[in-house]
Amino acid sequence: MDYMANFGLTGKRALVTGGGRGIGLEIARALGQAGAAVIIAELDENGAAAAAAGLEAQGVRASYRVIDVTKPDTVTTLADHLNADQPIDILINNAGIARTAEALDTSDEDWLATMRVNSDAAFWCSRAFGRHMVARRSGNIVNIGSMCGTVVTQPQNNTAYITSKGAIHMMTKSLACAYAKHNVRVNAVAPGYVATEMTLPLKIENSSWHNRWVEQTPLGRLAEPHEVASAVLFLASPAASYCTGTILAVDGGYTSW
Ligand code: NAD
Repeated sequence: MDYMANFGLTGKRALVTGGGRGIGLEIARALGQAGAAVIIAELDENGAAAAAAGLEAQGVRASYRVIDVTKPDTVTTLADHLNADQPIDILINNAGIARTAEALDTSDEDWLATMRVNSDAAFWCSRAFGRHMVARRSGNIVNIGSMCGTVVTQPQNNTAYITSKGAIHMMTKSLACAYAKHNVRVNAVAPGYVATEMTLPLKIENSSWHNRWVEQTPLGRLAEPHEVASAVLFLASPAASYCTGTILAVDGGYTSW
């Protein structure tokens, strides 16, 4: 067994939703460095263009598509279009939003928007791209869940976000069972707090929250995006060939107390 070769993705094609910045961009970099051609599927055109150009400058084969992944018809059209050209072997459902609101103050719009991006869109993508993977009997999907899908985080209240991540974890297991007989694996990474533009404004506005996050994390710090990307690379690679339905915690020990 050539163990290091087993982490390689040469000849593969990967699509990363929300890959224009943060964790998604780092995942695109990791998969690209492992040899995959990466496509960033992103709402923010400027962010996507800059991300793809930056990756290309580092020798990664990268391109981008501007898309709102909450639109199922658009997602299906993109999946059919890309797969007609060349198969998409790896799908990373990373796009997500976080809106902080006490449960009683959560608006209809906040609730629905959170579910649409964090849960519904991951299903639309897993269905549209998964259909081609199932037909080819080859492919693999990694969802970005959260430790919030396992435990209730503190001190901020995030009922909509927590619910959406719980849904992603169970969707991962359900699709893993549904697609396994077609040789398609479905796994998730469950990060703890990660230093990105999602958490930075909360940290700046409310340093007591940040202090609490660090105190409650055994490793005593937030994660860097590359630490999540490394776990995604493992699950997306042949090294994880016997993993499906796995929820891999990358949370600095947060859920271990
Ligand atoms: P981020 O806000 O920095 O990046 C999210 C990206 O998703 C942005 O580029 C955004 O434009 C894109 N996006 C949002 N809605 C979209 C849509 N409808 N269609 C296409 N793209 C869309 O966030 P991040 O911190 O990099 O988080 C990435 C993922 O990791 C999310 O699913 C998030 O819930 C999860 N996560 C983050 C943390 C954390 O602490 N940052 C912890 C656990 C899990």
